[in-house]
Amino acid sequence: TKWVYAFGGGDSEGEAGMRELLGGKGANLAEMAKLGLPVPPGFTLTTQVCTAFYDNDQAYPDTLNGQVEAALAKLEGAVGKAFGDPSNPLLVSVRSGARASMPGMMDTVLNLGLNDETAEGLAKLSGDRRFAYDSYRRFIQMYSDVVLGVDHSVFEDILDGFKDDNDYSLDTELSADDWVSIVAEYKAAAARELGRDFPADPREQLWGAIGAVFGSWMTDRAKTYRRLHDIPASWGTAVNVQAMVFGNMGETSATGVAFTRDPSTGDTGYYGEYLVNAQGEDVVAGIRTPQCLTEAMREKMGDENPSMEMAMPESYAELAAVFDKLERHYTDMQDIEFTVERGRLWMLQTRNGKRTAKAALKIAVDMASEGLISTDEAVMRVDPAQLDQLLHPTLDPKAERDVLTSGLPASPGAASGTVVFDSDEAEELAKTGHKVILVRIETSPEDIHGMHAAEGIITARGGMTSHAAVVARGMGRPCVSGAGQIKIDYAAKQFAVGRRIVKHGEMVTIDGASGQVLMGEAKMIKPELTGDFGKLMVWADKARRMKIRTNAETPADCETAVEFGAEGIGLCRTEHMFFDADRIAAVREMILSNDQDGRVTALDKILPMQRDDFAQIFRIMGERPCTIRLLDPPLHEFLPHTEEDVADVAKATGLPADQLMARARDLAESNPMLGHRGCRLGITYPEIYEMQARAIFEAQVAVEKETGFQPLAEVMIPLVAAPAELAILKARVAGVAKAVAEESGGEPKYLIGTMIELPRAALMAGLIAEDAEFFSFGTNDLTQTTFGLSRDDAGKFLSEYIEAGIFEKDPFVTLDRDGVGDLVRIAAERGRSTRPNLKLGICGEHGGDPSSIDFCEETGLDYVSCSPYRVPIARLAAAQARL
Ligand code: ADP
Ligand code: MG
Ligand code: MG
Repeated sequence: TKWVYAFGGGDSEGEAGMRELLGGKGANLAEMAKLGLPVPPGFTLTTQVCTAFYDNDQAYPDTLNGQVEAALAKLEGAVGKAFGDPSNPLLVSVRSGARASMPGMMDTVLNLGLNDETAEGLAKLSGDRRFAYDSYRRFIQMYSDVVLGVDHSVFEDILDGFKDDNDYSLDTELSADDWVSIVAEYKAAAARELGRDFPADPREQLWGAIGAVFGSWMTDRAKTYRRLHDIPASWGTAVNVQAMVFGNMGETSATGVAFTRDPSTGDTGYYGEYLVNAQGEDVVAGIRTPQCLTEAMREKMGDENPSMEMAMPESYAELAAVFDKLERHYTDMQDIEFTVERGRLWMLQTRNGKRTAKAALKIAVDMASEGLISTDEAVMRVDPAQLDQLLHPTLDPKAERDVLTSGLPASPGAASGTVVFDSDEAEELAKTGHKVILVRIETSPEDIHGMHAAEGIITARGGMTSHAAVVARGMGRPCVSGAGQIKIDYAAKQFAVGRRIVKHGEMVTIDGASGQVLMGEAKMIKPELTGDFGKLMVWADKARRMKIRTNAETPADCETAVEFGAEGIGLCRTEHMFFDADRIAAVREMILSNDQDGRVTALDKILPMQRDDFAQIFRIMGERPCTIRLLDPPLHEFLPHTEEDVADVAKATGLPADQLMARARDLAESNPMLGHRGCRLGITYPEIYEMQARAIFEAQVAVEKETGFQPLAEVMIPLVAAPAELAILKARVAGVAKAVAEESGGEPKYLIGTMIELPRAALMAGLIAEDAEFFSFGTNDLTQTTFGLSRDDAGKFLSEYIEAGIFEKDPFVTLDRDGVGDLVRIAAERGRSTRPNLKLGICGEHGGDPSSIDFCEETGLDYVSCSPYRVPIARLAAAQARL
């Protein structure tokens, strides 16, 4: 097996398409070298090495060592230096690189190959002793931390103490001799911590670093990240060994990170930060505040330090040309790392940049308009789940703001929550339904779970490319970073801004668009649905086949859904209408009646109210089809349960308390989910469904008379298991329609169909379709009944099941294609063979889940139905499923 692939130095064995084998970083380094860009040469140990390592009891393949030696020799040739050679030392970086980028999760070691001899050699060769020992001390600290497990604070304390003793405030004030003595102290400290000398042999260093990268694949934080992002452990990571270039060789050297467009807003124009006389990690770690890449950015931020465009015009121009080349080549926004060594530009990384939902949308639409990608491609570029962020409120610009302080607008969106300072606590509180804002001096990979649990994040330190900013943008959490006026006191659980103190548990609001932190809960406004969003939706609508409907029963929800582009109602749950204050008394009266007459009298009171509900919905929905489900839950749900509630209800309604109590006891079931509900109620209490059918048809006739358009009702009978149930109820409903037509002279337009939510119904679909004019897959109940799993009780063990890999995903969130999905396929096939034009849709929670929507497209359903806020997500997902 070929375990090692070389890149740069004239010929690259890999390319961008080999990301699975070489990891994202390695594949793109090879690709950039192939494009003729200046990439320091190196080689990549493949992800297969990682998999083999873990499959084989953490031992490397036999032939690996030889291949690494050969690649190293080739690298020495390409650079004209030798690894471990005191007179002309080659230094390398050892960098991890998984298939999917995992920012900050895996560790990198720079300046590897240094020891007392090679450091002297580097000093002579470069003519810069200060640089050589600055590199050496960085190496000892990084290697000790990443590979040997010595905490970096050990070294920071030494450096801080040294600076105090000498009255230095900045690292740049240290002289060559200062660094030499720091290095000695570092080595002594490492030896003390380790109980043995810091390794001086470059080969030992190299294999130590390689082992650390593979080892970091299985750390808790890497596992957490993989779990949150659905990355399988079996992918493994690659390791890149690359010749060092130095951004810390004085004032003509620099290092930086950049995006080819603004990753926060999507605006065109380069975007990035750089540091003079520094190495890569400095920019991200927030040790020094980085400077702006461009003049435009500097002006916008009001920064006084010179931009790279001003300070290093030649390197900047070269860099800008590389940006354009890379963006055209990858036809996507790139996230880039570069270093300038004594005026010479080197490219160290490129990848498709992470971006906010807003930026993803703008970049996709802009690139399609620029002709860089097609409109279909643009539709594919936006993650439907991410779109969610754009559909939620932002701060009302007109609302009053009690501005506490401001920082950098690191990740947009607005959020309110109570202040917490600890990631574990943030997670705990979020679990119990609290909205929290995580406040940290800065974040590290250990905070990922807390950031995920929080509504938003505030950091006191760090730039636009700091850990907090990058991770928050990826997660879609609003974030204000580098709010420098905030003084956090973790021990006292509070922070101060000047004289104002904000305590743990107090409510604050952050505005990721402006970088403001506000006291209290601020007013939010509805999202903007025109502009780029509108354009993308038009392209998505053109590409999709399935219709998108909504699950809604209130006029407000119907209006929201129509605004979001719903093409009908897929599920109107009529029981919600039974609970309204003006009719719950009549509903209870109906339930208490001992005979049909009594029930009819009570239902007569409900009829006009229910008719009015439907009329309101039809007015909003126009001629869009509306699937209305007749009463579904067991009657027991409408009765008071506790003695106290019974007394209250008795008092309010004048119904006798003892009767209420007796009836409630009477109706109680041990398994209500499988009990007297759905069409079983319709069969035993015909008058209930007859009233509901009448309310629907009369409302249709009335609205048609009033408006001239013809509402389309799809009357849905729930929980059918036997074809006869549907046959009987269909005849009754059709009878009501006929009666209403005769009485009113109108002609309600309707279909009668059923919900497929029991395995038996799915299997009997062929016969059921003889009467059903449509099927709607009620996948919530179908999942419950197929798994024999109660959604309300599964929470207690479901997470354990998922962790153990027994279930791959929560089947109530993502449709179980293998089992439940098979029933859906069977029902669709059998139903359509009886009735070729049978309408098929889905109305479970899955109707708004992109992966489930993909399944619905595959299965040939006519529509999906989801909650109003998910309608645009479903429109996009349905388009992607088709493309
Ligand atoms: P991460 O995935 O955390 O960004 P990287 O491997 O990209 O880790 O490296 C961390 C930093 O070190 C980056 O800023 C990168 O540019 C810098 N770096 C990596 N390799 C080299 C090298 N060969 N020469 C100079 N700088 C390097
Ligand atoms: Mg990187
Ligand atoms: Mg159901």
